[in-house]
Amino acid sequence: MVANVRCSGARRVDCGSVNSFAFLEKSARHQPHGLALVQGDERYTYPEFRDRALAIGGNLLAMGCRKGDRVAFCLANSPRIMEVIFGCFAAGLVVVPVNARLHVREMAYIVSDSGAKVLVHGAEYQDGITDNADLFAAVQRVCIGEGAGATGFDSLLEPGRALSAAVKAAPEELCWLFYTSGTTGKPKGAMWNHRMVKCVIMNYLADLHNIQPGEVVLHCAPMSHGSGIVALPAVARGAVNAITDSASFDVDNLLATVERLRVSHIAFMAPTQIVKMLEDHVPGRHDISSLQAICYGGAPIYVDQLRRAMELFGPVFVQLYGQGEAPITITGLSRQAHQRLLEAGDPRIGSAGQARTDVETHCVDQDDNPLPPGKAGEVVARGDVVMPGYWNNPEASAEALRGGWLHTGDIGYFDDEGYLFLLDRAKDMVISGGNNVYPREVEEVIILHPKVSACVVFGIPDEYWGEAVHAVVVPQDGQSLTAAEIIAFCGEHLAGYKKPKAVDFVDALPVSGYGKVLRREVREKYWEGHGSRIGGGAAKVQTQ
Ligand code: AMP
Repeated sequence: MVANVRCSGARRVDCGSVNSFAFLEKSARHQPHGLALVQGDERYTYPEFRDRALAIGGNLLAMGCRKGDRVAFCLANSPRIMEVIFGCFAAGLVVVPVNARLHVREMAYIVSDSGAKVLVHGAEYQDGITDNADLFAAVQRVCIGEGAGATGFDSLLEPGRALSAAVKAAPEELCWLFYTSGTTGKPKGAMWNHRMVKCVIMNYLADLHNIQPGEVVLHCAPMSHGSGIVALPAVARGAVNAITDSASFDVDNLLATVERLRVSHIAFMAPTQIVKMLEDHVPGRHDISSLQAICYGGAPIYVDQLRRAMELFGPVFVQLYGQGEAPITITGLSRQAHQRLLEAGDPRIGSAGQARTDVETHCVDQDDNPLPPGKAGEVVARGDVVMPGYWNNPEASAEALRGGWLHTGDIGYFDDEGYLFLLDRAKDMVISGGNNVYPREVEEVIILHPKVSACVVFGIPDEYWGEAVHAVVVPQDGQSLTAAEIIAFCGEHLAGYKKPKAVDFVDALPVSGYGKVLRREVREKYWEGHGSRIGGGAAKVQTQ
């Protein structure tokens, strides 16, 4: 029996089941021999993937989980991640992906905040969990490999307890908690429901890359984040989800995999990974002619780096801009748009593209008044892809969703044709002598210096300016650089007040588990003893 669900208007309309599991079910039916999941020698067809997910769903219910309960996982990239996600969908449970690079105590926070009933984790966490046993006392654990006090993953595959079909779910029922990276406080769980997942899938196929059945989609970034989300449209279209098997990001291994499996789409890359490709790629070593799309986002890429990447790897790049609160995504820049803008020498190659088909977005001032094109303010968005709120956090939800719009915390402006130029997180903006300086603008210039490999810019306390623009620079290998050179170089491209007042040099910059350069971590030591702006301060959005 299919449940009646009120969809819209006054009539009751029979919508059928909207459980996101239906996407997998359909691919298993359409592609009875189609490969679904591949890693090294491990391979599962779509029917095998479906059956394993139904088994996991049934066994999680047998462990005492009830519809709506949370199940967390903290796993290195492997087919297990997709099996657990779809196993949770099948049983009406809420999956809670945890970044596998987090410290065990950070993992414990998410497990506890989400109230997870079960945690599926890798054996590499076992020692840390044993050392912090009290933090994990309330959760049943399933370990991949040996894990004292945990059940083995095989027990989740016990066929006798498998579901025969997925449970019914309404569009508004929760199915995912996406924990924000927590750069400004404790991570918050953005709630996703089945409606959002459907929207993510349809929008990805419509606006970003139209994945085809049998196409090989490669995952080389953490699947608890963007790559695992892009796997959803790949499953819906019956594509092959291939997963790289090296623990760390290795460009040669990646490109060898592209050649071996004839990969056409790299699911998701952080800009830092693209930069690594620029550095480590040996032209001609691998045949990568099968590549049609590399999707990137999650942090800014500097225009110069994007240009070089397009010269080396071809017009394959697809940009998305979104956040856990409005996943994949708010705006996007298609492959075709990249190519057109690059060829025309159009500066909009440095934008985050235009609003996705069914997403409304614009910028607002600090009183939430909409701003005209060209005026910078906070980016707000609304549409079916926006979360209904944060898990167990009504204050943060009300603040983020005030007036019915998601307030992204990102500062940017739209041009006349609706291209979004992202400047920075509101909290990263520097106010120097009363002028707003967006670190990204300054970084875009410094990175053009031929002796610079990487950089971050931020504000530091200054008695005269309030905040002074400060740069921390990583020189290219073997190059020596002076602060005066950098400052003079900025002077050739930027207004005087935007030039760094001082520059420090380091060998490397800290990067998050999701490949984002941790600007605030670098900045912190400069704010010791100055409290208010540490870790993101009180900067109010000021329009230009
Ligand atoms: P997360 O929730 O971890 O995916 O982080 C979302 C944040 O990453 C956004 O609010 C932006 O600050 C940043 N971000 C995402 N996509 C882009 C992009 N294409 N360009 C610049 N920053 C981005």
